[in-house]
Amino acid sequence: MTENWHIQQEKASILLIYTGGTIGMIENPETGTLESFNFQHLKDNMPELKKLGYTVSSFQFDPPMDSSEMGPDCWKQLVEIIAGNYQQYDGFVILHGTDTMAYTASALSFMLENLSKPVILTGSQLPIGMLRTDGKENLITAIEIAAAKENGMPVTPEVCIFFENDLLRGNRTRKINADNFNAFRSYNYPPLAHAGIYIKYDTTQIYHSASRRPLKPHYLLDRNIAILKLFPGLSSLVVESILNIPGLKGVVMETFGSGNAPKDEWLLTMLRDAVDRGIVIVNITQCVGGCVEMHRYETGHKLQEAGVISGYDSTTESAVTKLMFLFGHGLTSKEVKEHMNCSLIGEVTIPDKLM
Ligand code: ASP
Repeated sequence: MTENWHIQQEKASILLIYTGGTIGMIENPETGTLESFNFQHLKDNMPELKKLGYTVSSFQFDPPMDSSEMGPDCWKQLVEIIAGNYQQYDGFVILHGTDTMAYTASALSFMLENLSKPVILTGSQLPIGMLRTDGKENLITAIEIAAAKENGMPVTPEVCIFFENDLLRGNRTRKINADNFNAFRSYNYPPLAHAGIYIKYDTTQIYHSASRRPLKPHYLLDRNIAILKLFPGLSSLVVESILNIPGLKGVVMETFGSGNAPKDEWLLTMLRDAVDRGIVIVNITQCVGGCVEMHRYETGHKLQEAGVISGYDSTTESAVTKLMFLFGHGLTSKEVKEHMNCSLIGEVTIPDKLM
């Protein structure tokens, strides 16, 4: 990892967008459940914010939400807020529930074309008002990362997730633990920075948009996407009903190992039939790390013959939101397949021999 200890922290202005999540929740004394609370509560519990030396402005979702309720409408709202305030701020920090943070980060990475400023998502496993909260450190470090500049340029001009100690590329990240503070991993891409005493950036891994064009916000997403997760004993009725959903355009099929599925003729026939009807079926492994290689086993090869395309080492979160984004922009199935076969914003590693 490159050790850039001397990255200059110039006085910066940060827009903090509070969407909700555990970080700002309080316990309902009657039911004992955690419920969303307003931003004032969060600020009251974070006097440290004032000491940071940056100009931190805030925007609050009203009402704040549990991230299980996030979806394309909220992603559009986030893009609108970032695009509408893009010139005024050096970086953006989004406070978000952890449950769907990886989906939001993936979606934003596609929707914010030509991004040249940091957009850092963070949250916490324990509310900020609790003694053992992980929220304070996560928030303060996320703000520092969003503010970090080197030679006047932002250090991490991409959509990232900061959690516990690591800064991860948003569209490579998954939530892997429901209660550990260390809840996120990016198994197929190295961390962009590690926060200990110093924040050490691995600048060789950070994505810089090749285009010098202004930010191009995108708002169109198509929800006609499904996830089909294989398991031993999966019934043909389940597959049939998913592949025949009216209006369905894309399917992320979660397969075994390096992209394998049973060779059952009924399954291959249903998949082939769906592909012939223009449905794009993307093969993603159920494993947390590694890559789909459909040529490796006969069971994977049969899928390829049926017209299923490889998702390589994409996360499910990235593949789902990429399909929503591509179909949302009116691309044909053929065009969607072509775009799934290349990296738009560092979300996937395409094997050299295909490039
Ligand atoms: N249910 C919460 C949410 O995703 C969990 C969290 O924030 O950690 O909004």
